[in-house]
Amino acid sequence: MKVKDGIIGLIVGDALGVPVEFTSRHEREKDPVTDMREYGTYNQPKGTWSDDSSMTIATVASIVNKNGIDYDDIMNEFINWAVRDEYTNSRSGTFDMGNTTRQSLENYYNGTPALESGGRGERDNGNGSLMRILPLAYIKDIDYDTVEAVSSLTHAHEISRTACALYVEIAKSMIENDLEISEHIKLACDKIKEHYKGSEVLEKFERIFSNDLDDVRGRSFVVGSLECVIHCLLNTDRYRDAVLKAVNFGEDTDTTAAICGGLAGIYYGYDSIPNEWVNSINRIDEVESLCEEYEEFCDNV
Ligand SMILES: [Mg+2]
Repeated sequence: MKVKDGIIGLIVGDALGVPVEFTSRHEREKDPVTDMREYGTYNQPKGTWSDDSSMTIATVASIVNKNGIDYDDIMNEFINWAVRDEYTNSRSGTFDMGNTTRQSLENYYNGTPALESGGRGERDNGNGSLMRILPLAYIKDIDYDTVEAVSSLTHAHEISRTACALYVEIAKSMIENDLEISEHIKLACDKIKEHYKGSEVLEKFERIFSNDLDDVRGRSFVVGSLECVIHCLLNTDRYRDAVLKAVNFGEDTDTTAAICGGLAGIYYGYDSIPNEWVNSINRIDEVESLCEEYEEFCDNV
């Protein structure tokens, strides 16, 4: 198990997508991203990560500091990111915060308990918890309730919670088993279908369960995101191609590529991530040290 495979894979995917976030698929077809870019959508230098990485790193830092999952502490670290620019590597501090996340942090800041702060509406199903849930896959025997609770800090609707559970199962399978990508996905889907048997929420994941993923888009709806990511993983055979395919769907490029990059990093390994991309990322050394501390924590639980 190497924590940095997935975490650095996620951060590099995020940084690849940041300069072209919100551009259309048509624009990306005319001018595909093939390498780490600079400026663009947020006018940030090359190798700048966004909310996806910041909230992932904040989660890892909290679990290391508390030697376990403490929902209040994770929320406090999210607020440190949102308000004090911690866990960022940009010139201008925090940027690119989703509405559901912003509202949940406001709720918590104003006194709502951590596990009641997240959005519960049908519209609160953007990919804002899916993009930061990866660290939990490294914890042995992590249970569904805990994954769902960590999602619920910002995204408490059952669609978001279930999407996080499915993603963590895919990541866990990749960490623990030596299988083809399609086999990891099938194994994870079977576990989710069993665990949520009888729940209406499973209908939302039917295209993933039946591998009906030819018509996907880089949108921010959590299930759409996951469909797009799985499509990218199933149709490429190395890290670089998987994350670039995700970016070149356009729209929510950084998050699609971050979610994809987390899994591609685990599956292909840290050494498959282009060195020049990793080295272009400001403060990556600090993240790698944190990954080592997290690995030690995970080895000891
Ligand atoms: Mg982002």
